[in-house]
Amino acid sequence: MAKAEREINAKPRKRSVYESVKLQFEKAADLMNFDPNIRKILSQTQNEIIVHFPVKMDNGKIEMFTGYRVQHNNVLGPYKGGLRFHPDVDIDEVRALATWMTWKSAIADIPFGGAKGGIQIDPSKYSIAELERISRRFAFALGNNIGPEYDIPAPDVNTNAQIMAWILDTYLSMVPANERQRCIHVVTGKPIESGGSLGREKATGQGVVYCIEEWAKDKNFDLSKATYIVQGFGNVGSWAAKLLKPKGSKLIAVHDVTGAIMNENGIDPDDLAAYVKKNGGVKGYHNSKPIDFETFIAMNADIFIPAALENQITDETAPLLNVKLVAEGANGPTTPEGDIILNKRGIDFIPDILCNAGGVIVSYFEWLQNKRSEYWELEEVDCKLRKKIVPAYKKVRDTAREFNTDWRTAAYIVALRRLEKVYQERGIFP
Ligand code: NAD
Repeated sequence: MAKAEREINAKPRKRSVYESVKLQFEKAADLMNFDPNIRKILSQTQNEIIVHFPVKMDNGKIEMFTGYRVQHNNVLGPYKGGLRFHPDVDIDEVRALATWMTWKSAIADIPFGGAKGGIQIDPSKYSIAELERISRRFAFALGNNIGPEYDIPAPDVNTNAQIMAWILDTYLSMVPANERQRCIHVVTGKPIESGGSLGREKATGQGVVYCIEEWAKDKNFDLSKATYIVQGFGNVGSWAAKLLKPKGSKLIAVHDVTGAIMNENGIDPDDLAAYVKKNGGVKGYHNSKPIDFETFIAMNADIFIPAALENQITDETAPLLNVKLVAEGANGPTTPEGDIILNKRGIDFIPDILCNAGGVIVSYFEWLQNKRSEYWELEEVDCKLRKKIVPAYKKVRDTAREFNTDWRTAAYIVALRRLEKVYQERGIFP
């Protein structure tokens, strides 16, 4: 047994998200005999930017904020990754999320590297006007650490198209007037009118559903009879649920930051999404009964879509799951210990760096449309997304068979093979 695997199998302990990413990486690198020199390079992030910046609050007082941008790797193309506004954001989490972005772009076969950023705030505590000033001042503080051909942010937890529009506008105000029209691809996930792409808002959920469809085909499983539960009913969770509805699958429980609800006869995802938009969460939704987290996680269903935060499927919760498939919409929902239990219990999972890659794939399409001054039809975007994510799914499935390993390790091997080839071709300067 290789070192990384021994460490995971040792007594479970709390580890940071970035430590988990490194363990996942090392497990795959050990198995595939990864080039030791390239392993050293990819074991570290390339740039870590921490900015402290002042913002005037509505009451006239100044508050100081801390923002992060970590750029893990750009050998395949410009750094790419979302911005998160959440109280748990810290340098460790951002490192982990940036590293996952490198693997994700490599698996999806798109010409991007990996980055991530964020601010450690609870956005619900600020007015819209304050959030606008925080977003703009963060973009100003990052300055030319982001750029349309260098590092391209996008939405993540608690950020959205409006925040991307503010960041775009601030960035454009900082570049020379005659270059502005050539810079609108500095962020993706923009509102459509400001250069966003049709299909970007739903892209991550759409990718999750394309992956679930492939899994169902492989398993000869009838999605029209499937039941599923979702954790997180924001962008990713709500879109995945809304897109599973036409397949005939039934949503029976949802957990988010406000609580958990269930209805064994089915919850309408469109109606629930409208309710969450208005009320900020699933708590109090009429057509359901409230349940606690323990009941939610142990629900008898076919599919579980975690679409909230990291570290949800652990050595404590994985034994409670009562599903056939975990389709990871969130980044890092399963710990290395959770993985071992899923594997032992024979619960299939589609790993995050494959399952939620739809977002970065359509971000790439938005970036291309901006560069070419084009607008693609929704059908074209969806069709191109499917053409990217389905081959990626098959590659991961086939690699798992080739190495007789689990799907997460296989996904890493797919990513690492691509990166290894590029580094070997180019060599290391000087
Ligand atoms: P979002 O802000 O739109 O929604 C987040 C959801 O998580 C909300 O429903 C919130 O209530 C829930 N949540 C927050 N804290 C929680 C907690 N402690 N317990 C349970 N639920 C909690 O964010 P999103 O964009 O949907 O992102 C969700 C996940 O998907 C994140 O892991 C993100 O990194 C990942 N992801 C997002 C995209 C994208 O395009 N937005 C792409 C790839 C991956």
